[in-house]
Amino acid sequence: MNSLNLQTDWQYDPAPQSTDHINLKESYDLFINGAFVPAKNNNHRNTINPSNEKIIAKVADAGPDDVNLAVSAARKAYETSWSKISHSERGKYLFRIARIIQERSRELAVIESMDGGKPIRESRDIDVPLAAAHFFYYAGWADKLKYAFPGRETQPLGVAGQIIPWNFPLLMAAWKIAPALATGNTIVLKPAETTPLTAMLLAEIIREADLPDGVVNIITGDGSTGSSLVEHPDVDKIAFTGSTAVGKEIMKKLAGKNKPYTLELGGKAANIIFADAAIDQAIEGIVNSIFFNQGHVCCAGSRLFVEESISDEIIFKLRERMETLIVGDPLDKNTDIGAINSKEQLKRIQEYVKIGQDEGGELYQSKCKLPNTGYWHAPTLFCNVSQSHRIVQEEIFGPVLAIQTFRTVDEVIEKANNTPYGLSGGVWTDKGAKIFKVTQNIRAGVIWANTFNKFDPSAPFGGYKESGMGREGGIQGLLPYLKLNPC
Ligand code: NAP
Ligand code: MG
Repeated sequence: MNSLNLQTDWQYDPAPQSTDHINLKESYDLFINGAFVPAKNNNHRNTINPSNEKIIAKVADAGPDDVNLAVSAARKAYETSWSKISHSERGKYLFRIARIIQERSRELAVIESMDGGKPIRESRDIDVPLAAAHFFYYAGWADKLKYAFPGRETQPLGVAGQIIPWNFPLLMAAWKIAPALATGNTIVLKPAETTPLTAMLLAEIIREADLPDGVVNIITGDGSTGSSLVEHPDVDKIAFTGSTAVGKEIMKKLAGKNKPYTLELGGKAANIIFADAAIDQAIEGIVNSIFFNQGHVCCAGSRLFVEESISDEIIFKLRERMETLIVGDPLDKNTDIGAINSKEQLKRIQEYVKIGQDEGGELYQSKCKLPNTGYWHAPTLFCNVSQSHRIVQEEIFGPVLAIQTFRTVDEVIEKANNTPYGLSGGVWTDKGAKIFKVTQNIRAGVIWANTFNKFDPSAPFGGYKESGMGREGGIQGLLPYLKLNPC
């Protein structure tokens, strides 16, 4: 009997998302002091669509002079307007931004998928609604800070310099901007080089919301723009999300400067499946933990630990499930896995896959057909790996899962903690006692039980060890932007 080949025998019809309502400009300037202005040196760089390698738009490249201008605009706005208005007025602006994000949600989702390669299903159902939810959530705190920190008077820090990565461009901008504004700070934000467009749309939204000029400034550029922002003497606080390597550079630069900073860095989370878990749900959880957003997720469950007695069953079912994942056009509503964000990132993932094979890992990749143009990577598993393998220790930031087995709770806790990172983790079991034991003993900022990759603006997020310091989200997310004084 011939078995069903899911790649060829049972295809979905294409369900392309319309792009008719998208109005992209040919070229984007910097957003400084409430206006769109060209970079002083008039330099631009292109941003491309990683699914077809086509140029989508030109984006201004901010140099040190532009960073200066943006920081002075933020300083002036802090002193003349934002620190003077009432807390409830601040909240109204945040509510307004949240509502406009909702109104323009389809446009934001499509542009996010075009610029970064993520499936429209995810940008439409996760990135954009969560970005709006962050603004709504922190809008609510703006006039309630005295209840968040009873008996203390809260004081903003001043000008916040914020730098974000390319994996959740709009969402990371929301995570940064919303709490900083709610607490009374002004902002200079630098988006990532490969995904600047939704940040520029957010600049339009901020203008539409009528925020006083200079309260939020958004400057596009590369790592050197970020570096100038970090080094700028008139910035009062740095909030950075990105790689551990750049996070360490920032720490060195700020050492001894008495400038507060928060760092949200890399991860290599353990996702632990006990034999008493609901297996089919766990399979979905594994898929979500490593293949969501092409695995470009700091909290991805990239190390899978399976209790030895069920490892054959899990690996069999996981491989079957991987064959049903649809890899392709990010703008098709059926797509599960979109394009890899950039050529450089694809090269990095491919290098790690080669390292995994060279070190003796057993490779399995889904048999999906990858498009000829653009940057793509098939969902990938490695078995037969151990704690010392580089693909087990290092962050790959792609759809590559390393699988190991364990026999006891203590063994898996020790293995899970054997990493320089400490951002997140997952545990799947029917037993509450095991959940408590594992979650209490794994040193990671967020641990999910019988689920994975769930986010909510009211829940703090952040890491231990080389995954960074400080928390974003929740009441805890207000703290990095405030001084608390006695009343
Ligand atoms: P990255 O290379 O560190 O870049 C992050 C941001 O910093 C980008 O805007 C980048 O600009 C800028 N940058 C680069 N060099 C800089 C420097 N010397 N000084 C100041 N800024 C600089 O990281 P990425 O590759 O974009 O993002 C992936 C990493 O982010 C992964 O390690 C992931 O785990 C981490 N991440 C962590 C979280 C979290 O919450 N913990 C969330 C998301 C992502 P360019 O883009 O122009 O180079
Ligand atoms: Mg792009």
